[in-house]
This record gives sequence, structure tokens and C-alpha cells, in this order.
Amino acid sequence: MATAAKPAPSLKAKLEKLGIRSQFDLVLHLPLRYEDETRLTAIADAHEGVPVQVEGTVIDSKIAYRPRRQLVCTIEDDSGPLTMRFLNFYGSQAKALVAGARVRAFGEIRPGFFGAEMVHPRYRMVHADTPLPEALTPIYPTTAGLPQAALRRLIGEALAQCELDETLPPDTVARFGLPAFRQAIDALHRPRPGDDARALTGRTHPAWRRIKLEELLAQQLSMRLHYRERKSKTAASLGRPGALSAGLLKQLPFRLTGAQRRAWSEIEHDLGETHPMHRLLQGDVGSGKTVVAALAALRAVENGRQAAVMAPTEILAEQHFRKFSEWLVPLGVELTWLSGSQKKKQRAQAAADIASGATRVAVGTHALFQEGVTFQSLGLAIVDEQHRFGVEQRLALRAKGSATKGSATAGAGDVNTEPHQLMMSATPIPRTLSMSYYADLDVSLIDELPPGRTPVRTKLIAAERRDEVLARVRDACRAGRQAYWVCPLIEDSAEDPAGNARARGPRPGARQAEALQLQTVIDTHARLAGEFAELGVGLVHGRLSGADKAAVMAEFAAGKIQLLVATTVIEVGVDVPNASLMIIEHAERFGLAQLHQLRGRVGRGADDSACILLYQKPLGEIARARLKVVFETSDGFEIARQDLALRGPGEYLGVRQSGAPLLRFADLELDLDLLEAARDLAPQMLQHHPEQARRHLARWLAGKSELMKV
Ligand code: ADP
Ligand code: MG
Repeated sequence: MATAAKPAPSLKAKLEKLGIRSQFDLVLHLPLRYEDETRLTAIADAHEGVPVQVEGTVIDSKIAYRPRRQLVCTIEDDSGPLTMRFLNFYGSQAKALVAGARVRAFGEIRPGFFGAEMVHPRYRMVHADTPLPEALTPIYPTTAGLPQAALRRLIGEALAQCELDETLPPDTVARFGLPAFRQAIDALHRPRPGDDARALTGRTHPAWRRIKLEELLAQQLSMRLHYRERKSKTAASLGRPGALSAGLLKQLPFRLTGAQRRAWSEIEHDLGETHPMHRLLQGDVGSGKTVVAALAALRAVENGRQAAVMAPTEILAEQHFRKFSEWLVPLGVELTWLSGSQKKKQRAQAAADIASGATRVAVGTHALFQEGVTFQSLGLAIVDEQHRFGVEQRLALRAKGSATKGSATAGAGDVNTEPHQLMMSATPIPRTLSMSYYADLDVSLIDELPPGRTPVRTKLIAAERRDEVLARVRDACRAGRQAYWVCPLIEDSAEDPAGNARARGPRPGARQAEALQLQTVIDTHARLAGEFAELGVGLVHGRLSGADKAAVMAEFAAGKIQLLVATTVIEVGVDVPNASLMIIEHAERFGLAQLHQLRGRVGRGADDSACILLYQKPLGEIARARLKVVFETSDGFEIARQDLALRGPGEYLGVRQSGAPLLRFADLELDLDLLEAARDLAPQMLQHHPEQARRHLARWLAGKSELMKV
């Protein structure tokens, strides 16, 4: 790719703000919309609120000072006068817009105090014979200090310099009836006269579809290559069944469900391979993923390797530690706990045990995969609620895998091997996402709940009927059961229903929202403790120390606390089967997947369970629609699908703050046909046209390939 003369630093900075770093980025800086400057409208014929282009002669121009300094210029055509008003203007503008000058202005006409006016129209000085443009005018996304004209010129230069040759096999281009790449790019930047403005702006024009296919194909190629690369790496085979996994199965108080057995046999098979498994174990909340993970961990141990279990929150990690201990210690397998909130000394001891191999199974938060923790022979990394980890953390985990390679303490047998990875998620990945962002993973599905569960009844109750709800809580606790009371999200956090903001660092406003939420949960706890003097009412929130959180959760699990007031820290994974009632205050503020996750904390035992969604009237239309989804369906997949439709993949994948490039042009739902086409095309291209595939990827992913693999 040719490089242009170096732009001035300030221009460079502005371009970078728009994500433009190369000539090709300029080529791909596609218009937001188009304006029709091919026609003139008579001033008197212009409809209010419709963008039009008019042309006239300046009859008056002055700088007015009331209500504030502004340039007011009146032009006139055969049909009547029009006032142009500029609140910001340069002296040179005032000089040019003098009586007699001819102006072509584009904008919306509004009725003003002195007749029709345009505020800040785009305009240019013309002569009586200046021709009208023949094609639509592209309008680009831009930033302060970078006018459309400048951007247009830069893009024009890039279009002239970049070699935009075809990378798709010719038969493909023909098959989809799409234009060639160069043609598509030209059509978008320089639409031809008479081109369909609506299709161009709505991104349904064949030229747009071609660009979207290009982008989706790059993503698919990258996923395929990543998949292949993984299959070409080596991992220790953990294929030998031993006494430990068999022992766990024997000792469990229940039999695995058919779905659990199926998932386990798929994992078992992968663990026996000599290349690293990257498998996602998917199952709705309560489907019993943990025991499958424990079997996998034991399989690693009985094959002489270490296993690591990582969870996104301390509460969940702590709970895994307890559950795994309960299952593994009787089999003679000791566990090590490692987390960020641990005392330095204990943490150092844990890290030393992990490095020496004294520990066979380590459980903890993402601290497990931070620098300074080296495994003696890590055979399997288990990541629970993997979608809750930010993109960076997932990449760090990947890097940890390969870091084991050359590292001095990796252990003799481990050179050039990677650990197997088992990821777990209760948030089902909608089909469009599993075809795109998650295409490089293998998936096992637990699509069956353990027997004897009664479905959770969901109720929608207006907050004004809070007294009835209190009575229900009292009844349930008197009958020996337990309840959760989940406090509302506060503004800012409500916008981030994917949660886990803490792990990704605060955003503006997040801190206040968190403080407010903390206050709310403390107040709510005080009030409920007063209302239920006879019950044990506990409190858990994100600001408690890890040890305090664990202590409260342990008391709740032991039944010493009957009512647990909590923030969403209990959202994932918490498992107390005797808790059969959940109240969620201000349910309208939560994300759908989050409500589903929260609701999944009850209905874990044999008792009848209920989840009460308290909402504040009046409910907006969207809030009503959202609550209806959670009320009507208990199917996590359906909820996820609707959630995705409401929130878009960026939110869904939890990468909003990370700035990772998601798809820029294609829309997974709207362009499903192109996504499917790209998925079919990628392997064909890799097999029959590897050179084109390589060029295609290089063009589209230059430097971004890591982040495409969310
Ligand atoms: P999740 O998939 O949400 O992580 P868990 O692994 O926490 O679910 O399992 C939920 C509960 O169901 C736990 O108490 C677990 O011990 C129990 N459980 C798991 N599998 C079975 C089974 N096959 N039969 C009965 N109970 C089971
Ligand atoms: Mg779980």
C-alpha cells in the first residue's frame, strides 16, 4: 500500500480520533449518509424540515449582536427571500457574503421571526453558471476541525493511491451478484447520478452488501485460521481415566443427567487429544456445569497435570472453592485458593505451591492468571462465566497459555505445549454470535435441568404493593426457607447490564453510581432488618472484603441468615438450594440476561420457588416489553436472543469499554445471509485460494487480528 506524504501532527491526531491510521482506513471511512445536491429547490417551494438546496443572490448581510453575536445574511431567488443565520463564523465568511454575491446553500428551512431561515447551512459561493454536481454528496462521520471538504479530499487521494484489487474468487462475486471490491468502494464514496439514495443510506445497496461480505469474510477467515492454528499446537493428552474421576462419580449424591454425561464425554474426548481443547460448556443457570468441570479437573490430576479454576468474582470463586473442596478433598486432592484480595503472604505461599507443583488444583479469581503466577504443569484451565471476563482478560489468559511455553518454571515436559481450556457460560450465545465471534470454539451444551426441579414462578408486582411482598418473605422464612432481596441498580450501572464493570475499570459516573448503590443496599438492609426483627437478615455487596463476603455467604448457606440483602454480586453462580424466593427491586433497570441470571439463584432445590420482579410505575414501553420477556420465558436462549436484539452485540460481548473493533459495517441480524455466505466461503477460500485469503485478511485485519478473536 502506498504511503502518502506525512500529514501534519494535528491532522494525524484528528484522523486517529476517527480510527483512521492508514490509507486503507481512509478508503474504509464510508459515508454516514448522502445529500442530494444535484437539484435546486425554489425557496418558496421548500418544505419545512426537509433538507433542500437553494441558490440565490445576497441582498443583505450584517453582523447582529442580539441576542448574541451572529452573522445574518439574506439571499433571494425568483420565488422569495431566505435568511441564513451563522452563530459561529469567520471574518472571511462575513466578507464573502456581500450583497450581489451568489450562494448555493444546503439545509433545512424553518420558519423564523423574519420569515424563512436556515441556521448554519452548508453553503458555497457560486457563479451563475456553476454546474450542479451530478451525483449524491457523501457525508462522512467526522470530528471537530476536520471539515467534510478536507476529509473528502483525503479520501479522494487514498482512493487514487490504494490498490483495491479483488480478493474474492470471481465465481463468488458473480454468485452473489455483487459488484467488484473497487467498484463497490467507488460507488459508496462517489455514488453515480441517479443512484438509489435510500439504499445507499440504509446500507442495503449492493455496494454496501459487498463491503459487509468482505468484512464478515475477514472475520470468518481469522476464526478459521485461529481454529487451525490451535489444532496444530500441542497439548498434553489427559486421556487416561483414573480412580479420581471415577471416585467422584461414585461419591456424588445424584446421577448425572443425560446432557451432563454427553457434555462430559465430549470434554473427555478432547482432553485425550494432543492439541489444546478450547471448549465452551454452555448450560442454563442451574443445569449443573460445575460437576462436569470438577470431573475435567480430576482428569487432569489423574494424568499428572495441574488444573486451574477461575471465576470472575470472588463470591463465585469462593463458592467453587468450597464445592470443589467438598468433592475433591475426600478423594485426597488438596486445593489452593488464590485471589487478589488475599494477604500478600498467603498469596505468595499459594503462588509457590502452584509453581512447585505441590498444588494440583488451584481455584481463584483472574489473579490466577496474572503475572508472577507460574504453573508447574498446567494441563487444564477452567474459566467459569467466561463471557463476564473482559476482552483483555481473555487475551491475557490466552497469552498465559503460550507463556507457559518457554518459561523457566514451566516444568520439563511442558515446553511447547498449551493447557486445555474449558470455558463455561450460562449466558447462551445466540446463533449469530456463535457463528461469528465464537466461531473458533467447540461447544458442548447441557440442555436439560437436573430432575426434581420445579420451575421458578415469576411475578411482576408494582412497588406500591411492597407490603404483600414482605408478607410473602415472612411466610417463606417462617416455613424454613430462605430468600434473596436484590437491590436496584443505579443509573449508570443500569446501562451496563452485562455487568462486571469493576473488572474493566470505572467509567465516568460509575463511581457515583456505585456509591449510591452501596448506600441503597445499606439502607434497604437496615429497613428490612427492622421489619423482620425475628429473622436473620444479612447483607452482601461488592465493597465488602473477600473474607467478609465469604463469611456472609457461608452463614446464608448454613441457614443462619434467612434473608440476604444483596447487590448483583450474587448474580452469577451462587448456589444455595434452600433459597426459594427472590425479590428484585426496580427490576426495570436490569438487563434481561441479568434478571435471568439472578432468577437462576432460586429454584435450585425441590421446593416451589418464586422470583418477584418489583417495578416502579409508570413503566415505559421498552421497559414493559423487557419485563414481559423475562416474565414469559424461562428459556435462557430465547432471553439471550431478545437481549441481543435489544442491546446489540457490543453490549452483549461486554466489549463496549474496551474499544475492541466489533464489526463496523455488517449487522449480524440484518445481514444473516451474508454471515452464512462468509462462513461457507472461508474454508473454500483457505483451501482453493490461500493467497487471496491471506491478502484479504492482511487488508482487513492489519494489526487487529488479536482483538477480532473475542
Ligand atoms: P450451573 O450450571 O448454573 O453452574 P451448578 O453446577 O451450580 O449449576 O448446579 C446447580 C445445582 O444442581 C448444584 O447444587 C448441583 O450440585 C446440582 N446438580 C448438578 N447436577 C445434578 C444432577 N445431575 N442431579 C441433581 N442435582 C444436580
Ligand atoms: Mg455455575
